[in-house]
Amino acid sequence: MAYTREREAAVAAVERASRLCVSVQKSLVSEESLAKKDKSPVTVADFGAQAVVVHSLRAVFPDDPMVGEEDARALREPGNAALKDRVVEGVSSVTPGLDDATVLDLIDHGTYEGGASGRHWTLDPIDGTKGFLRGDQYAVALALIDRGEVVLGVLGCPNLLVDSTDEKGPRGCLFFAEKGKGAYMRRLGDGAESAVSVSGVTDVSQARFCESVEAAHSSQDDTARVASLLQIDQPPFRIDSQCKYAAVSRGDASIYMRLPTRKDYEEKIWDHAAGMAVVQEAGGRVTDVAGRALDFSLGRTLRANRGVVVTNGHVHDQVIGAVREVLGITD
Ligand code: AMP
Ligand code: MG
Repeated sequence: MAYTREREAAVAAVERASRLCVSVQKSLVSEESLAKKDKSPVTVADFGAQAVVVHSLRAVFPDDPMVGEEDARALREPGNAALKDRVVEGVSSVTPGLDDATVLDLIDHGTYEGGASGRHWTLDPIDGTKGFLRGDQYAVALALIDRGEVVLGVLGCPNLLVDSTDEKGPRGCLFFAEKGKGAYMRRLGDGAESAVSVSGVTDVSQARFCESVEAAHSSQDDTARVASLLQIDQPPFRIDSQCKYAAVSRGDASIYMRLPTRKDYEEKIWDHAAGMAVVQEAGGRVTDVAGRALDFSLGRTLRANRGVVVTNGHVHDQVIGAVREVLGITD
């Protein structure tokens, strides 16, 4: 089954939301709110991006539900009126003509519970909020799940280098993948598009691996143990958000490990669906730490899985072997 119209709508929606995020992140840096530790800019971009994506998708697919990270409850509180005004203003800059009530309703459209029946979208309007606040990497991540299966993923990475080897070069990429149709990167600047594919690295000791910047999101101690077991000397490539999936999809890295920091954490579907679609279509593999497929049919979280391991495919079994050994997985 083709999802051409869905792909076109999703790419347009993520592009528009990415533009909003870029302008908010710019103001964040120039206003030096970083120093003031003011977190409201990320809130404005986060809610605003969700409203923009939902508005774009609903114009084409009015009946599709959405599992979004955000809801508008907090914005409806009288004490947050100023914040709400900034969200509505941000949304207007890329999608003019929406009043306050409409923007709040659009944000609240993301409260669907997900599951195995029918189809639904899942959205992380700003994945990597900590990276966004630091002026680093973040992603707008949107995916379509049809009867429990991820069939389409779009990742807006507004701050990612177009060419990872050219530090001074342009930034801003968008990745998209439709099941069975390959993975592509579009430059946000000029719209130039090309297919992406994973690295050809087969000697795992030569593989570069990425992980979260935030030690609370992934056990950096355990990844260091796995790397040592695999005789990987290169230091970890630490980068926020699903930009890690993007990095593996185009061969900047060959492994992404997200090893649990605690037993009871359930990964959220919006943190992985889009990235997984892109990596798999680029030729890579995505499983949990035990080597099992991720199950997106269970609602808002991946509750049947623990952690996530992403590779170029060639080194997957070896990485899973080492991860299982380090984590003591025997089943
Ligand atoms: P990253 O940018 O890769 O560090 O991931 C950001 C995401 O981590 C956020 O969107 C959260 O949903 C997620 N997150 C928050 N707490 C945890 C945790 N304890 N373990 C794994 N992921 C988490
Ligand atoms: Mg996230």
